[in-house]
Amino acid sequence: MAQLSPLLKQATPVVVDHGEGTYLFDSEGRRHLDFTAGIGVTSTGHCHPKVVAAAQEQIGKLIHGQYTTVMHKPLLELTERLGGVLPPGLDSLFFSNSGSEAVEAALRLSRQATGRPNVIVFQGGFHGRTVAAASMTTSGTRFSAGFSPLMSGVHVAPFPYAYHYGWDEKTATKFALRELDYLFATLTAPNEVAAFFVEPVLGEGGYVPANTEFMAGLRERADKHGILLVLDEVQTGFGRTGKFWGHDHFDVRPDIVLIAKGLASGFPLSGIAASQELMSKAWPGSQGGTYGGNAVSCAAACATLDVIAEEGLVANAAERGTQLLDGARLIGDKNAAIGDVRGLGLLVGSEFTTADGEPDTVTAQAAQKAAAERGLLLLTCGAWMNVVRMIPPLVVTAEQVDEALGIWAEVVDTVTK
Ligand code: PMP
Repeated sequence: MAQLSPLLKQATPVVVDHGEGTYLFDSEGRRHLDFTAGIGVTSTGHCHPKVVAAAQEQIGKLIHGQYTTVMHKPLLELTERLGGVLPPGLDSLFFSNSGSEAVEAALRLSRQATGRPNVIVFQGGFHGRTVAAASMTTSGTRFSAGFSPLMSGVHVAPFPYAYHYGWDEKTATKFALRELDYLFATLTAPNEVAAFFVEPVLGEGGYVPANTEFMAGLRERADKHGILLVLDEVQTGFGRTGKFWGHDHFDVRPDIVLIAKGLASGFPLSGIAASQELMSKAWPGSQGGTYGGNAVSCAAACATLDVIAEEGLVANAAERGTQLLDGARLIGDKNAAIGDVRGLGLLVGSEFTTADGEPDTVTAQAAQKAAAERGLLLLTCGAWMNVVRMIPPLVVTAEQVDEALGIWAEVVDTVTK
């Protein structure tokens, strides 16, 4: 009898039978309030009827077209539809299956277009698990341990993670940009840097939002040195932060945007968007893949865009996000074990620290487990896995947010007694 590899680490023991909206139902019929959304993927809720109908209709027509062989309608329709939501000037798209593949595609494009070997990433960033993406990931050594030698040409600059440094945001930002300049002077000349890869909100690294000044500093240096600014919107895109793109909060112009997760409601689909001018500098035929831009995924993505617009999900993410962040902050304020509560839209993290201000992984993990036992599914993140994160689907209601906060208050009290 075969069994699943022990290398998979599962956050909860739940075996799901089916999902509906913000709920998952396990094989024993128990209902779980899902504030994980498949790691920020099922933004329209589990099995939204419009997404299901679009996918079912497409399955009956064509499952696999293979875009380096033939083109198909859902891919062309999705390309056109994304034109309506992508940042100005990013009018050219390439599709793949996972976030990591999108990272690799952007890396290949950046190096080919600039002819430069190096990239700069920001400490605490997560970009994926393939060799290149893991080499660019610094949210935890667990993602690269035992996997060396990693790809060369990656340099790491600080991210303005104010709470970690024990500074205010302005000081942390000044420090991060100063260190970036120091890196240019000591580790890699800027004219050897192809791209900056940065998340608008550190995701796996602990739900730490960037800020306008930091992004402006990156843009300024990118323009000065001919470096491409790549925004990894894999977790923050498609309304998750309460604006359509995470970077909409920071008024910054990207050269390349990475998309995945919330794009297709759970069907595997990712991609990169850039200007036609930049994309035309890539070497034709160097990118591709057997499954990229799958027809059913693309049909589901078109339906996802419809649902986001028709149901006002970006506005809902902003409103429910404020409710969730305010509620989590009240709970954090009342409990010394929670050192910081932060987030943007429906990405909310509570960082657990000991009385000495050290990362408290044990209590964070206990809180996540206790929440799961009470029917609230949560995840942890951060370098020490000491940040409990809430990422409900964007269809979450005010009552469901209240229900989750009620459970969370009880859980925090219980695990810190
Ligand atoms: N970038 C970011 C910002 C992510 O959050 C993730 C996944 N958590 C990835 C890249 C990698 O995506 P995938 O797991 O689909 O390869």
